Amino acid sequence: MWQEPELTERFVSVIARASTQLPSDVVEALRQARDQEDEGSLARKALDTMLRNVELAQGAWQPICQDTGTPLVWIHHPPGVSTRMLVRAFTEAVKKATAQQLLRPNAVDPLTEKNTGNGAAPGIPTVHCEEWDEEALEVRLLLKGGGCENVGAQYTLPNAELGADRNLEGVRRCVLDAVHRAQGQGCAPGILGVCFGGDRGSGFVESKRQLLRPLHDRNPIPVLDELEQRLLREANQLGIGPMGFGGKTTVLGVKIGYLGRLPASYFVSVSYMCWANRRAGARISPQGDITWLD
Ligand code: SF4
Repeated sequence: MWQEPELTERFVSVIARASTQLPSDVVEALRQARDQEDEGSLARKALDTMLRNVELAQGAWQPICQDTGTPLVWIHHPPGVSTRMLVRAFTEAVKKATAQQLLRPNAVDPLTEKNTGNGAAPGIPTVHCEEWDEEALEVRLLLKGGGCENVGAQYTLPNAELGADRNLEGVRRCVLDAVHRAQGQGCAPGILGVCFGGDRGSGFVESKRQLLRPLHDRNPIPVLDELEQRLLREANQLGIGPMGFGGKTTVLGVKIGYLGRLPASYFVSVSYMCWANRRAGARISPQGDITWLD
């Protein structure tokens, strides 16, 4: 079974991959977006710059963006593995990755207003551990940039301003409003993770977990799949475009989940992820071998 120092090293590899290698589905979506924008347009130039940046980062194993984001990680583990050990190992991995410049020192203590210098602080990284019946560990990491986090939004339904009731049409109106309000800030084209239901905290966590899904992943619930495809089309008809320059691509994907809610509450939580959708998934065998996941 895993020892803490070896596991820390595996986690550093997962962080390195997330920070420097944009997932192939996101790269492909950026290419398709670039090719459909008009020749010479600012939208096309912006997407071209993003793609060049991705290539340079990939070749040199350098961070894709100067803001390497907040590390959010979900770990599935077999019975008997200490979750305290997993949290320690991942936190240590963040510190090592920061020392190796795979991550920027990105954690500020809001009481002292001092950067901790090592990438870790209370709540950073955020590690979610869940037991499962398999022998391997599964690690799913998202590096969530600050600019795009700033344009995330949470709504309570009903919402008179949007004419949004407590139903999927209401959810649709909230998501489009969030994209409209962002106006390309948060480094569009973005990917939207959405959760309806839950409470204010759990709703946002689930909306971020949705961002782990590859862009080609289709929602197994037909009515949500339909809503995801519709919102993708409609968001791209808003004309906001890459970085707000106008154009055909405002959003690369929409992923929707839900949680149970109290009778009194109906939250819609929208997490906006920038084009630098840095996610990495890995299975780590009991012998320490890594298999990369989509
Ligand atoms: S929002 Fe994303 S792409 Fe923009 S600066 Fe932040 S991490 Fe980088």
